[in-house]
Amino acid sequence: MSVEEQLIEHAKQGKLLTHKCTDCGYLHLSTAYYCLKCGSKGFEDVILDGIGSVATFTIITVAPAGFEKYTPYAFVVLQLDNTHLRISGFMGGIASPEDLPVGTRAKITGFDDRGIVIEKQ
Ligand SMILES: [Zn+2]
Repeated sequence: MSVEEQLIEHAKQGKLLTHKCTDCGYLHLSTAYYCLKCGSKGFEDVILDGIGSVATFTIITVAPAGFEKYTPYAFVVLQLDNTHLRISGFMGGIASPEDLPVGTRAKITGFDDRGIVIEKQ
């Protein structure tokens, strides 16, 4: 499986695949040749729970072609618990900012043709 396929399989189980520097422990969301923090080349896969708090979001009311069936939805940036990592994904049923206060607890619940799917916890 490619790294992207692995990411999708983990997302469907509510998990996030990350890449941890074996020297300094810094977590990377995508594969890198060198650690962004210390320059080391050693990495190991670490699977995290895809749970955190909504950091920011954008409501999509006019969707790109082919995505109209999903509107309204939000493009959400989720701050993952216990890490510096932020991931982005999509949350359905968000029509106005009142529907999703910043800081709302949320989690990864799947993957569809938009990308990672996030739902309120
Ligand atoms: Zn490192």
